[in-house]
Amino acid sequence: MIAHEIVEMIPGKDAQGVCDDCITAALGLSRRQQAQRVTSALAVTPSYHRWQDECYMCGKTKLVIAHA
Ligand SMILES: [Zn+2]
Repeated sequence: MIAHEIVEMIPGKDAQGVCDDCITAALGLSRRQQAQRVTSALAVTPSYHRWQDECYMCGKTKLVIAHA
């Protein structure tokens, strides 16, 4: 359930990525680890890309995720 909501928040191809903290805040998750667990699992699939960059929501440079 949470994984599905996280996937829907991930920006499309050629977009800036979104960080775990913003996913956590936007979905009202109680723990950042919930978002992190999902994004790190998605990152190993060919459909998603996770890298160090400016988050499109908070503007901070951290690990962000977007569609590959
Ligand atoms: Zn952010």
